[in-house]
This record gives sequence, structure tokens and C-alpha cells, in this order.
Amino acid sequence: MADIRTIISVLVLCLSGASGFADSVYVYTVDMTETHTVSISSSPYVTPTASGDGNLALPGCPIPDFVVGVSAGNMGDPCIPQHNLYAYMITDPCVTGQKTKVVIITGNHNTETSGSWAFQGMVDFLLSGEPEAVWLRKAAEFWVYPLVNPDGRYTQTGRGNPEIQAMLDGGQLPPEITSNDHNRLWHLSYPTDCGVSTIDALTTAMLTDSDACEAGIDYYFDFHGTDSTFFYTVPELMDCPYVEAFLALDTGVYPKARTAEQATLGSSRIWAMLEPPWGLGATYSFTPENDKYHDVSYFLDLGRYYGIALHNVLMPETLIGFADLEVLSSSWLENGIHQRQIGELIGWWEFDEGDGNTAADSSGYDNTGTLYDGNGNVIEDPNWQSGALVFDANTCVQTAYNANKLQLNSGYTWAAWIKADSTQTERAAIFDKYDPNTAGPGNNHWSLQFGVEHYIDTSDKIDVWNGAEFMDFWDTQIKLSEIAGDWHHIAVVRSVNTMASFLDGNSVNCGKYTTNPISGAGLLNIGADRRLQNFYKGLIDDIQVYDYQLSSDEIELLYQDLTLPSSPAEEVYYCYPTGDLNEDYKVNHRDFSVLALEWLESSIK
Ligand SMILES: [Zn+2]
Repeated sequence: MADIRTIISVLVLCLSGASGFADSVYVYTVDMTETHTVSISSSPYVTPTASGDGNLALPGCPIPDFVVGVSAGNMGDPCIPQHNLYAYMITDPCVTGQKTKVVIITGNHNTETSGSWAFQGMVDFLLSGEPEAVWLRKAAEFWVYPLVNPDGRYTQTGRGNPEIQAMLDGGQLPPEITSNDHNRLWHLSYPTDCGVSTIDALTTAMLTDSDACEAGIDYYFDFHGTDSTFFYTVPELMDCPYVEAFLALDTGVYPKARTAEQATLGSSRIWAMLEPPWGLGATYSFTPENDKYHDVSYFLDLGRYYGIALHNVLMPETLIGFADLEVLSSSWLENGIHQRQIGELIGWWEFDEGDGNTAADSSGYDNTGTLYDGNGNVIEDPNWQSGALVFDANTCVQTAYNANKLQLNSGYTWAAWIKADSTQTERAAIFDKYDPNTAGPGNNHWSLQFGVEHYIDTSDKIDVWNGAEFMDFWDTQIKLSEIAGDWHHIAVVRSVNTMASFLDGNSVNCGKYTTNPISGAGLLNIGADRRLQNFYKGLIDDIQVYDYQLSSDEIELLYQDLTLPSSPAEEVYYCYPTGDLNEDYKVNHRDFSVLALEWLESSIK
């Protein structure tokens, strides 16, 4: 290999008069690609790719397992032999597990040989003993395609190949393809073949080799050459970490943005970013362009820098350090300062009807309820009493099956005035939202019910149930024995992962509760549970359901029967905000210690 470099670096061609060589300063021939590929094929870090198939190789191929297809060649003028399409994978096979996925190609354009030199510089670096390369081989897998257009390179002229020319001549390409250019057809290779042997074979091989259909790939490099040295990428990646890492190396080489339209969809860089199987799903895609005014060692060095930058951008991601603590602590701070969510009153039964057997919903959401008894019959003579409704252990107000109404997803507030009898059956429900068309306990969407004596709770207390689990309730600590016989205002508020209860405007209990209300189509029973059993005994007035958390000040206003302000408090929490990790009702450095300790312990695996 060193021999080739030495020989080639002095081969400054002075063939400006010869057709096709005008733009080539340093040759990089088809044979040189093969020679280089053979020379690295015995490295312990190089293997054939998944799509490598010796049966595809042309007779006399020195490394048939590295062949993923062959080019078409050309029988006419110019006469071009078929060529092997080589591919190989570089990684440290002793380190397994998830690795960063990188695809490197070159040779789209025939005269852009400085690109092949820079490409070789990157490959030689990746296989070297440099510590960055040793590390990269453990952290990443590289699928390498060292000459994607050998027939074109063989001609040493133009940007295309004879197959594309024949398709152009035969009118077989879409009208927007007007020139013979091997880097404008990549997006046409799926779902059917575009008809260019090289592109069809290589796009299939790349998808197979990198298993891109699973999760895409991370990085894509397509080495080219032109009049100046820079690298193309898309505008969104101009400030990406890889570009920053490359710029930090101070090579004097800068990125240039080109949109998909400007670059044309069919360039391999843009193709690589398309979702698989249309492309490789690459997160980062670059086209290093290399000038023709430097010597070979310059391009080899540049290729090495593209590898070093990859090391520098990947390395910090795998180290555990202060940067991780910074990420962790900033999210802790943000969670500690919990901004309130705003929503609407989505259900409000005032029970002011005084007669009839329906109860209107004043929220504007039209959840009108009908009065039923335990047999499911409409109650003909309900007991309305001074702006409230008497629930006599056989009365239920049931809304219609109401599709998307009364849905609760995160924060919420329930409020009601109740005058409860001193004895209640176990699980007597003040209200219970459920879906009769959903089987199993999961249809118990959300409810406010008395407890279950023979389990751990008692029927003296009012509990919140969210979700499917029978035992997964939250205790309001509002006790029947303390409220029975008199009118009281009760409210519960869900805020992120905490629940708070209020009695007559005052906080009663506050604690963690992470079970989300199961929300779905269904109906609401007021005064009975989901099975139209376990009836509540007493009076109920003014049930309200909000789909957001009211502040404690607003609960106080509800209790005083006053209007809620139109612009509510900025921030609201009732017990400890999420950032209060040690649950001492403060967010401070003690919580940070908890956070840092958890981080340290989880980091030492
Ligand atoms: Zn090019």
C-alpha cells in the first residue's frame, strides 16, 4: 500500500491534451481500488458484508467473497469490461452489541479521483493502530463500498457510465434526468430497479448489509472531488454535532448546505437520508468534496480527519461525566417548576331541575343524565329537594354513552357538594365513569367511591379509582364519620403524579398517585357504581368535572360558590412538585443529592 502511495503521489498527470483526463490530477484507477481492497481484506477487522457472494464474482477475482454484484460493462464503443462491485465491513469483532452504523462510499464520478484518495485515507485510518481508530472499531460498524461506478472510472471521463448513456439514448429515464450522471439516479432504485446495474446492486447491498430497514443508519459519507475542498450536507445538519466536531479539528475545510432540491433527490447523499427501504434512513449524511490542487498526502490526511471527527463526536456520548449530570439536573429543575395546565369544565350537573327525570349538564358539553333505578327503569317520581337530588339507594343519574366526552387524560379536578347518610354500602359511588362495551375491570375508567371495608381501606373513607386495578385506589382521607348528615364540598385534584383532596376548600390529603384515569367512550353513573349497584345514600348537588387541575385558591372559590378567575395562577402544586425527590415539600440541593446519588449508582454497572 505504501508503495502505491509513493508511486501515485508522483504521478501528476500532464495529459491535458488527452480526452477525459483534463480534470484528473491524480489517477485512482479501477485496479487501484481492487489492489487496495485486497490489501486490507486480510485485516482482522475486515470481513465481507452480508450480501457478499462469491458466486457473483467475475472469473479471476482475488477476493470473491467481497463481491456484492458486477457492473454491466459495454460491448460497444467504448469497449468496457465488466467489473466486480466490492464491499467490506470494518469493525472490531471482539466487541459486540449495539454499534453506530456508518456507510462509506466513493467513485460515483469518474474523474474525481481526489475523492478516492480521501476515502482511502479514512479507511486506512480506521484500520490503523491509532487510539481513536481502535476505539472507533469497538464503537461503530463501517460498511464500505470502495468504487460504486467502476465502468465510469474505467473511462476516466465524465460523470456517468455507458449503461446510463444507453438508457438516456433510449428514452428510458424520467424526463428530469437529462445528463449521464451516476449520482442522479439513486432514488429510482426502489421499489423497482432503476436499470443501472451498479446502483441497483449497491443500494440493495447497502440496505441488506447495514440492516437499515431495522432502524436506519447513523452516518453516510460519499467521497467526491471538485475545484475546492469542503463537504456538502443538508441545511438542517450544518450545526450538527459531527460538523462541530469536524470544524474543531481546524482543517480549513468547511461545510456547505445544499437542500434535497438543490442537490437533486437522486444524489446518493440525499438518497441515504430517505426512510428505508427508499433509502438508508441516515441521520447524518455528508459528501466530502476534494480539490485537485494538493498532493495525495493531503487527501489521505483529510480522510483521516473525517474519521477523527467521528471518534470525537461519538466518544463523549459513551462517557459518563458531568455532561450527563447536566442533562439529568436540567430536566429535574424543569420538572421541579411545574407549569400548570389549563383546560375546561367538561361536566357540570347542578341538579336545579326540581322535577322531571333528567339532569342537565351546564358545562356546554351536553352530558345530560337520565334518572334510573337499580333495575334500569326510568324513575317516574324522583325526589328533588331544594336545588339538589336525593339519592335513596335506588337512584342513579346516567349520561348517554358519550363517545369522546368526559375524557380525562392527565390532570383533572372533580368537585361536588354532598350531604351523605351516615351509613354507606361498600363501594357506594358518588360517581363512576365506565365503558360497558369494554370487557374486564379496565372498563372502570375513573370514579369517586367509598372504600371497601374487607380490604385495606374502609367504607368510612372516600377513594379515587383510576384505571383497571381493583386495589389501586387513592385515599382522599375525607371520612364519612366526619361529614355525614351535613352539606360539605369535596374536591379532588390530579396534578401530574400527585393527588390532592379538599374538604370545604381546605386541603385534607396530598400524595403521589401515578395511575392514569382510563379514558374512553362510555357513560357516567352518578349515585351508583359501574354495574348500577352500590348506590350512594344522601343528597348530591353541583358535581363538576374539569379536565385540568385547579389551584387550591380556585378550589376555595368553588367552595364559596364564586366565579373562577379567567386567568388562573401560573404555577400550581399541592404537595410536592415532581422535582421534590426527597418529598420534604421543598425543591433544593437535598433533592439534587438524591438525583446525583441515583445517577452515580445507575452509572456503575
Ligand atoms: Zn462528484
